[in-house]
Amino acid sequence: MPYPDVSTRLEWKARPPIHPATVLDRKPDRIIVHHTSTPNSPDMSLDHAFRLSRDIQRFHMQGRGWADSGQQLTISRGGIVMEGRNRSLAAIRAGKHVVGAQVLGHNSHTIGIENEGTYMTEDVPDALWGSLVEVCAWLCVRYRLKPAKAIIGHRDLNNTDCPGDRLYERLPDLRTAVALRLDPQAVLPSPIPDASDGPEAFTSDDVNGTVPPFRLK
Ligand SMILES: [Zn+2]
Repeated sequence: MPYPDVSTRLEWKARPPIHPATVLDRKPDRIIVHHTSTPNSPDMSLDHAFRLSRDIQRFHMQGRGWADSGQQLTISRGGIVMEGRNRSLAAIRAGKHVVGAQVLGHNSHTIGIENEGTYMTEDVPDALWGSLVEVCAWLCVRYRLKPAKAIIGHRDLNNTDCPGDRLYERLPDLRTAVALRLDPQAVLPSPIPDASDGPEAFTSDDVNGTVPPFRLK
């Protein structure tokens, strides 16, 4: 599976961290989906995405007093994927875990994705959704995680609205989309070629597994 194109800190011109991030020689067991609670900007450009990363870093360092950006990864509304906290990209590639600051009490075992926007009532743009699926699939491969168990929302662990009602409602869709991305055969049943089977023997609506996959003779 190809890795998603992740823009580095050098590209978005991150400032140096107060101190280097802690890297644990183990994998995280949960992928946390966040929204940034920033406006739903119509600007899908690279410049806007890089500015977003700098704004988040400034807020986390100056506003929160943290050593660096809290989240390991950021996705703009235009679908641009960016490294967040320092050392995150190298750690992911090595199957290790950078300890972030994104879920109170659970940073030692979770990796966080900040998705630009506010998704209480509005749905995420298709470009962002596509990148979120790719990033989650990449993390599931690198860390050998099962999407159904690993992908959760910030509100599952802390008392928060994050990642918004709309995005939170779509997490089951996200888990299914990621599972399909990893292995189309795992979720989508493969039809058995049989001339006597009518078209009703298999329907493409069976992806959720709620309908018996196909008729066996
Ligand atoms: Zn959050």
